[in-house]
Amino acid sequence: MITLYLATSNPGKQREFQEAAHGMGITVACVPNFQQLPPCVEDGATFEENARKKAQHYSQFCGGWVFADDSGISVDALGGAPGVHSARFAGPGATDEANNAKLLDLLRLYTATGGRERRARYTCVIALAERGKVLAVTEGSATGVILPAPRGSGGFGYDPLFFYPPLGKTFAELGPGEKWVVSHRGIAFRRLVEWMRQAPVQHA
Ligand code: IMP
Repeated sequence: MITLYLATSNPGKQREFQEAAHGMGITVACVPNFQQLPPCVEDGATFEENARKKAQHYSQFCGGWVFADDSGISVDALGGAPGVHSARFAGPGATDEANNAKLLDLLRLYTATGGRERRARYTCVIALAERGKVLAVTEGSATGVILPAPRGSGGFGYDPLFFYPPLGKTFAELGPGEKWVVSHRGIAFRRLVEWMRQAPVQHA
């Protein structure tokens, strides 16, 4: 069984990675003492920059392979916002509820001025690193539309507002396994596993 160390404090991400990786013969453990480590400044302009920074930074404090994901939602009507600022859209330390409320407020304003665009894209970039060196970077995305009101109680973050037309449900209405099949994070992680299967050195 391969062990990968995940660098995140986001319980939604942790849950998704751990549940799905288990079925793939991979153990996902959190980077030990994550909360006590010096934080990584996520000031990159792109998901890739931030994912690389996080993986590079936290792999200096933990042996083996360490991975980090940087992800978020880009809404066409808002010129791609919140994008890399998704976690703190409504301000530093914002809750999911506050972020969703801000997104709906902005879209209400946009609609009131005649806007009709509802398209949004989730993106996830995963970087894998060892002892401060990035070994691999993978990406996944999922395209949907933003609903005017939340639906469903699963998932996390913007999931209750993110309607995925191919399945006719929001991400919060999908079971964890269902979301993983089509989500940005599931796609990026399967690409990472594919890379690992072809990598010359395996870590126990
Ligand atoms: P990060 O920790 O800087 O990568 O921030 C990711 C943020 O993007 C999360 O806190 C959520 O607000 C949003 N996000 C990313 N992936 C998802 C998802 O799968 N569902 C809902 N929200 C997500």
